[in-house]
Amino acid sequence: MKIAIASAKGGTGKTTIATNLFEALRLEGNFTVDFFDTNVGEPDAHLFLDNIYTEQTNKEVVNIKIPLFDKEKCTYCGKCLHYCEYDAIVMNKEDRNIYLIDNKCTSCGACIYVCNDNAITEIDKEIGIINIRENKSSDNQGSRFIDGYLNIGHPFVSPIVQSMKTKLITGQISIIDTAPGTSRAVVEALYDVDYIVLVAESSAFGLHDLQLMVKMLNELRKGFGVVINRYHGEHNIVQEYLEKAQIPLLMEIPFKMEYARIYSESELLVNNNDDMRKKFLELFEKIKSEYMLKAMYR
Ligand code: SF4
Ligand code: SF4
Repeated sequence: MKIAIASAKGGTGKTTIATNLFEALRLEGNFTVDFFDTNVGEPDAHLFLDNIYTEQTNKEVVNIKIPLFDKEKCTYCGKCLHYCEYDAIVMNKEDRNIYLIDNKCTSCGACIYVCNDNAITEIDKEIGIINIRENKSSDNQGSRFIDGYLNIGHPFVSPIVQSMKTKLITGQISIIDTAPGTSRAVVEALYDVDYIVLVAESSAFGLHDLQLMVKMLNELRKGFGVVINRYHGEHNIVQEYLEKAQIPLLMEIPFKMEYARIYSESELLVNNNDDMRKKFLELFEKIKSEYMLKAMYR
């Protein structure tokens, strides 16, 4: 089962929910659980999971294909320029010069497709890496922590997310921590998961951000529920919205100094508070029943 944790903006506690859910399940030991940090522009799950996964067992380089121009074969017709939606090709017909601004190239392949003169070949360009770490302790061997890192200066994160997902999801349960927002990389991370946990704050801004995510997930036709983080105790506008829109409220995490302290020390709630460990296991049970309910009416 693939469960993604998402939010419309950073700072809502998305990684807190993802890492704690992962650790609660890993410690239960009933399943092999893999954790994927797909926020490859700014990965931060390692801050909480480094203590568990101390040894790196594998590292994979992620390449994309970019065009290489053969200036002898090129007739400087300009067709590739015309079809490149990202303005990544620069050509000067008089000087018989053509080159690529490689940080703009998305590897879409349109230029190669339209060139009739066989003047373009493809070469590899490294854009990032994927780290794979296996759990070496006796409890729940086989669980893995996988995070991706985008090279500085490269703007397109989707190929790394794609590579992480297509090659590496093997565990019985995969917890996928996404980047915040509704970008293409987030859609890439979410489109084939079984269930999505949206993390929201109980404020007017939190509601606005949540509504953006709900709109996107409805387009993707995905089952999802909401965790309210830093809950202040009173009935609030986010709960009202969820009731009206009939979106399941999966869990509320109260605002507590103790939790803030645990977080600030890069520790996990489930390893420091038995009640929270129980709550995260209950969260998993709710996710499972919501997923099964949705599957019944599909
Ligand atoms: S389409 Fe081919 S021949 Fe035409 S300018 Fe581009 S590389 Fe040169
Ligand atoms: S592969 Fe796509 S984005 Fe890159 S230069 Fe060619 S047309 Fe432009």
